[in-house]
Amino acid sequence: RSSRSWRSNDCAIGKSMNLWPTWLPLRQDLRELSAYGAPQVPADAVMNTNENPYPLSQELSAAIAARVLDAAKNLNRYPDRDATVLRNKLAQFINSLSATKLTDENIWAANGSNEIIQSLFMAFGSGSALGFTPSYSMHPLIAKVTGVSWINGSRREDFTLDYDSALAQIQREKPVLTFITTPNNPTGSSLSINEIEKLAKATPGLLVIDEAYAEFSEETSAVTLIEKYPHVVVIRTMSKAFAFAGVRLGYLVADKAVIDAMYLVRLPYHLSALTQAAGEVALDYQEELLANVARLRADREKLAQEIVALGLTVVPSDANFLLFGGFTKPAAQLWKEMLERGVLIRDVGLLGYLRVTIGNEAENKKFIDSLSACLGEK
Ligand code: PMP
Repeated sequence: RSSRSWRSNDCAIGKSMNLWPTWLPLRQDLRELSAYGAPQVPADAVMNTNENPYPLSQELSAAIAARVLDAAKNLNRYPDRDATVLRNKLAQFINSLSATKLTDENIWAANGSNEIIQSLFMAFGSGSALGFTPSYSMHPLIAKVTGVSWINGSRREDFTLDYDSALAQIQREKPVLTFITTPNNPTGSSLSINEIEKLAKATPGLLVIDEAYAEFSEETSAVTLIEKYPHVVVIRTMSKAFAFAGVRLGYLVADKAVIDAMYLVRLPYHLSALTQAAGEVALDYQEELLANVARLRADREKLAQEIVALGLTVVPSDANFLLFGGFTKPAAQLWKEMLERGVLIRDVGLLGYLRVTIGNEAENKKFIDSLSACLGEK
C-alpha cells in the first residue's frame, strides 16, 4: 500500500498560483485556491468523512432499485422541478422528530447540504458572512467561490463556543449570514437550544444553523425556533446519520420567505428524478436507516475511552466523530502511518489533532490497534 502520493490534509489537488496557464481566464481570486477534497484512497478502515459505516439492507436497496427502475422509464422528461413529494416527506420527517408543524413550503432540497450552503450565499450574500473557527471548512470556501466575504470568528481554546464572545463578534461585524455548526465539525461540541435562541434574538440577517450531525446529539433542533424567529434557517443532510451519502441529498428547513428565495438561485431541474426517487424511498425506510445512530453514539463513548487509555486527549463529541490530540509526532506523520496500516482518518489541518469517524466494530478495533502501534513507533 502506498500513501506517498497523498497529502494528509484536505487539499489534494492544489495548484499554486503560478501553475495555471496564462491563457486561462480564471478569476484572479480563484487562482490562489486549492480544490477541496479529503483523500479518497483505498483502506481497510475508512474513517475520514463522517459517513455512517453501516450499508443499506438488501430489502431497502431492492426497494430503491425498484423505484429507480420506475423513474428510469420517464428519464426522457425533466424531473419535478420543485421536488414536491420529497419536500413533503422531509417536512413530515422533521415534524415527527421535532413536533413542529412545517410543510413542504418550509423545506428546500438539493444535491447535498453543500449545495444548500452555496444557494444561501448566492441568495443572501449581500454583506459578509461570519463563522466560528475551527468549523466546517467548506463554509468559507463556498463563500469565496460565490464572492461573499468571510470573517473567521473565534472559539475558546477548548473549541467550545463562548456565547458572550460570539455575541460580541456578531454585534461588531454585523454579518448578513452567521454560521453556527452544531454539533460542530471537526470538534464535535454543540450549542444548547437556549444559547441558539439567545443568539437568534441578537443576530441581524440570517442565523444559519448547520445541523449535519444533529441526529447524533441530544440537543433540541433549531427547527423549533423557526416559527418564532423566521431568520433562523437550519441545514440538514441525509449523508451522515441517514447513511445516504452516496445519493447526495441535503435540505434546508426555514421560513417560507427564505425557501421562496431559493427558487431564484436554483438551477432549473437541479435535483434529478433518480435522486428524488431514492430520497423518497429512504424516508419511507427512515427507521431502518436511523437504527444504527444509538449504536454509533455508544461506540463513540467507547472509542473515546480507548483513545484516552492510550494516553491521548479527546474533545467531548456529540457527533459521529472524535477529534483527538496529545500525540507527540506531527499530525501529518501519524496520519500517514495510520494509512500505511490501512486506517484512513482525517487531518483537518489543526495543529496537534486528528479526527476519526466512528466506524463499525472491526474498523474501531483496527483503529485502536493501529493507533496504539503507531504511538509506540518513533
Ligand atoms: N455541513 C457539515 C458540518 C459537514 O460536516 C458536511 C459534510 N462533511 C456538510 C455540511 C456537507 O454534507 P453533504 O453535502 O454531504 O450534505
